[in-house]
Amino acid sequence: MNAAAPKLSPGLYIVATPIGNLGDLSPRAAAVLAGADLLAVEDSRVTAGLLRHIGMKRPMTPYHDHNAEEVRPGLIARLATEAIALVSDAGTPLISDPGFKLVRDARAAGHSVVTIPGPCAAVAALTLAGLPTDRFLFLGFLPPKAGARAAAIAEVAAVRATLVLYESGPRLAGCLAALADGLGYREAAVTREITKRFEEAVTGTLSTLAARYADTPPRGEIVIVVAPPGDPAPASADDADAALTEALTRLSAARAAGEVAKRLGLDRRALYARALTLKD
Ligand code: SAM
Repeated sequence: MNAAAPKLSPGLYIVATPIGNLGDLSPRAAAVLAGADLLAVEDSRVTAGLLRHIGMKRPMTPYHDHNAEEVRPGLIARLATEAIALVSDAGTPLISDPGFKLVRDARAAGHSVVTIPGPCAAVAALTLAGLPTDRFLFLGFLPPKAGARAAAIAEVAAVRATLVLYESGPRLAGCLAALADGLGYREAAVTREITKRFEEAVTGTLSTLAARYADTPPRGEIVIVVAPPGDPAPASADDADAALTEALTRLSAARAAGEVAKRLGLDRRALYARALTLKD
């Protein structure tokens, strides 16, 4: 079944697999799956489906959240002589999926660790959302309970980056409402079923999206992408007066105007004129 596959050198191979469209399995990922001595998989039924698609059968062993502690030492020992491919049910292992301790321990034991990058729902969602991608923060799944979820949102409210979250259909509206409560007015996108037949990206503000999904939880797999906070509101005349009044207790009118102009991003000449008035 696997006779033609070139033998891989021993070590851990992190293999990304499709998130829906099996055509997204890269030739290199297929070659590594074919050449590995063992596949460490989340769910052997899921990976068997992928292997069937490429016409191969490989030995598999389960590696998931419930058995990882127990089976990891055995896998690490086998890496000395065997090529083991870590595969999750879909997408990139370690991204909201098990694996980082396996990578850490494999490297600590002196074994080679190689990655075969490929599909990842978070990155695919960013490419669909039409929101800034220069800085983004991946939050995985937020806690399901309202209090813990609100706390997690509050923690990132001031972060000047696009936020990327995984969520399920039944919890989508609640999560969007909590995001709207905690983050205020923000553009966002709900991306769904990426690479599959019903792939879509629905955009709007957090509150309009929350309302849209309130009564009709969508089916399928979902990534929420939220725009970064907007620029802060420009300083008001009262802010400028307060800052100038304080600065005038330490500085001349010209220097006070210069300092406040820099700090609040306002016009220095206008502030100088105002400083002279305030001084009188
Ligand atoms: N490791 C995976 C990756 O690289 O994206 C993510 C695994 S995480 C357990 C599964 C979550 O990823 C889903 O609940 C969903 O939020 C998101 N996801 C996976 N496939 C997706 C798809 N085709 N479209 C939208 N979201 C997807």
